[in-house]
Amino acid sequence: MIKNIKALFITSSMVNVDKSYETLLSRIQGDLVNASKKDSARLEIPKPQIIWVGQRTIFRNFMEFPKALRREPEKLLLYLNKELASAGYIAGERVIFLGRKEPSSFGALMERYVQDYVICPVCQSPDTRTEKAKKLGFLVCEACGARSSIKGNYA
Ligand SMILES: [Zn+2]
Repeated sequence: MIKNIKALFITSSMVNVDKSYETLLSRIQGDLVNASKKDSARLEIPKPQIIWVGQRTIFRNFMEFPKALRREPEKLLLYLNKELASAGYIAGERVIFLGRKEPSSFGALMERYVQDYVICPVCQSPDTRTEKAKKLGFLVCEACGARSSIKGNYA
């Protein structure tokens, strides 16, 4: 780390002799702070890939979601089935629903699931896990430590 800053300083001072070590150092530190803030707040929600095959709706990249959100695939599927009034099933990386489901509804459903089952309501961090106690679901935040109750049944 210190080595890197020195190396940057030397390179930079060769280009611009007016730049003081302090100015450069504070700029580097500022960049580091910004970078780590961005990383912790970011949750990459994949874009659902939905296609129709005959009278079926295939959610091609379903398995990316439980991985990204760190939730059980079965729970997420139960949620989708209830919201879509369907009986979709997992087939490899995909989920197959009977009937033609509106492709745009999947993105909205996933966003709602993230809001209700993943994001900490106290600090908005996505770094959470779920817990069950006496049949009630709780969201435990790994960032701020808050333990919040979950309203729905698909935690
Ligand atoms: Zn939190």
